[in-house]
Amino acid sequence: MQKFIYYGAGTYAQVRFDDFRRQYELFCFCDRNATDGQTLFDLPVYPPSILFKQYPETPIVLTVHPIYNKATVQDYLTQELGVPAERIANYEPHIQCTSCEFLDNFIILNDNGWSFCCNLFGNNKSPYIDFIPGASVRNVVQQLKDFRNAVLEAISKNEQCACTGCCELKTRYRKELPAPAFALVFNFTNICNLKCIYCTVHKESVSMDMIDIQKRLDIITELLYQKLIDNNTEIRFGSGEITIHPQRQEILRAVKDFPCGISSNCIVYDESLAELIALGRSYVICSVDAGTRETYEKIRGADYFDKLRDSLRKYVKKGTIILKYIFLTNLNDNDNDVNSFIQLCEDIKPAQVLISRDWNDISPLNDNLLKMMARMLVNIKNAEPLKGALTNDETIRLANYIEKLQMQGDYE
Ligand code: SF4
Repeated sequence: MQKFIYYGAGTYAQVRFDDFRRQYELFCFCDRNATDGQTLFDLPVYPPSILFKQYPETPIVLTVHPIYNKATVQDYLTQELGVPAERIANYEPHIQCTSCEFLDNFIILNDNGWSFCCNLFGNNKSPYIDFIPGASVRNVVQQLKDFRNAVLEAISKNEQCACTGCCELKTRYRKELPAPAFALVFNFTNICNLKCIYCTVHKESVSMDMIDIQKRLDIITELLYQKLIDNNTEIRFGSGEITIHPQRQEILRAVKDFPCGISSNCIVYDESLAELIALGRSYVICSVDAGTRETYEKIRGADYFDKLRDSLRKYVKKGTIILKYIFLTNLNDNDNDVNSFIQLCEDIKPAQVLISRDWNDISPLNDNLLKMMARMLVNIKNAEPLKGALTNDETIRLANYIEKLQMQGDYE
């Protein structure tokens, strides 16, 4: 069987390692930032020079994030280093244009319509279209294509549309369309067992309506057929809590062949969710946002911190767990919570820790909060700020604090 050099030894490669390995037999890793003697999963991580000297014939697979890094890594390899595009197994042509990462990469399948992003981005006027009543599945998917094309065209011509004025519209790289989406978001419920202070889901009228799983599956089959998604498209479960939904077993089994990214508060240890991540293609992302019981209760509305820790210990034995910490000014940006969260991560050993801001407050982050973020970043393995969570100025200030901590050598 042919073996591949995995280009990219960062967090994405580590989190999705099982999934890559299932598709491409691994030969070794290669990374622009490789250090002397570095290994990953007991295999060497080499610098790019090996692509020409030792192994000039070995094919490459890019194990970097498809949305944030792939286009630039492709350009680096093909244009700067002269690697032929045909040598890269998962090469995808990109173009530069004005667009947004959600419109380019996400499809949101709601009960009765399509959208692309959280409507907060577009000040409640983001693109949304209802399914035509009585339309066939084929027409419903065609409707999505036509709608997205119309929005993209309006953006390219600078015409008024639902995205006009949105802060997410930027000049960026995107895959040449048509191309399979990075993620299909499967919206199915807004029921939840917590009342997080930054979340709006529990303020909406609660719906426990059963969903038509077969209808969703038919739509997914048609999306595959029309190549709007493929078997590598991530199925994401967003708002609402999957572990308490009455149809969770059926829903999770229905999507088990896709890589799934499932947001869960992980208070309930659910066997069907554990089974899904045990298959090796999927992960659970859990926002903890506290290091202590008291703060957890204040932020998340219930005293479940100990229960959460017990569940996380069980989930992590089954598969990939990503933890998240949303910093909230004067609530969880203190020594006690930050140090205790660092200890929690040492105990759970998540595959990745994402550090974010509270999107409800986009005023500049204060110095104390950035210092606390820096402490987490130098003390927790595989911790990184959520993409786009920081402004350029905040990124520079954060980097300064990180450097100071590293120079002190005393990470506390
Ligand atoms: S530009 Fe804004 S409103 Fe339009 S899809 Fe992107 S995030 Fe949503």
